[in-house]
Amino acid sequence: LIMIKSDLDEFMLSYRHLLQGEADAKGIRFSLNTDSGAMVNIDHEQMRQALLNLVQNAVEATEEGGEITVSLFCRENQALIEIVDTGRGIPEKERARIFNLYFTTKDEGTGMGLSIANQIIQSHGGIIEIESEEHQGSCFRIKLPLAE
Ligand code: ADP
Ligand code: MG
Repeated sequence: LIMIKSDLDEFMLSYRHLLQGEADAKGIRFSLNTDSGAMVNIDHEQMRQALLNLVQNAVEATEEGGEITVSLFCRENQALIEIVDTGRGIPEKERARIFNLYFTTKDEGTGMGLSIANQIIQSHGGIIEIESEEHQGSCFRIKLPLAE
């Protein structure tokens, strides 16, 4: 890992086009809220991969006309990155398994995206939490330690 102390807002803005492009390709509205003021130690390439995996999943779960919102927050000792979609949601019976390597509900899925994202976030000392309502949507919340 190549950890660099970084402004989380600037980091995320540098990938706005990449993430927006994923949503645009499917006719999904994309918003990015970046006024957290959070500083974090991150490996840029790894964190880019984790975010892209989560946003790709959000796009795949969401119908045309739906919405994806990525928001950054700064708490007392944590930075939060929330990826919220208005997609299919995650059924209760799938929730315990979605981080498992090779678990997929998609015909052409690899089941690798969340497993990799989870490993990357854990290697940064963070965690991923999920809130989801079937047929309403999902929120994947990354919590990272703030840089000193
Ligand atoms: P893949 O995308 O190849 O299926 P992932 O590891 O990225 O593999 O995701 C595993 C499974 O988790 C998906 O197949 C899907 O069932 C579920 N999932 C992940 N993200 C979402 C989401 N935002 N909304 C609904 N289901 C999701
Ligand atoms: Mg995936």
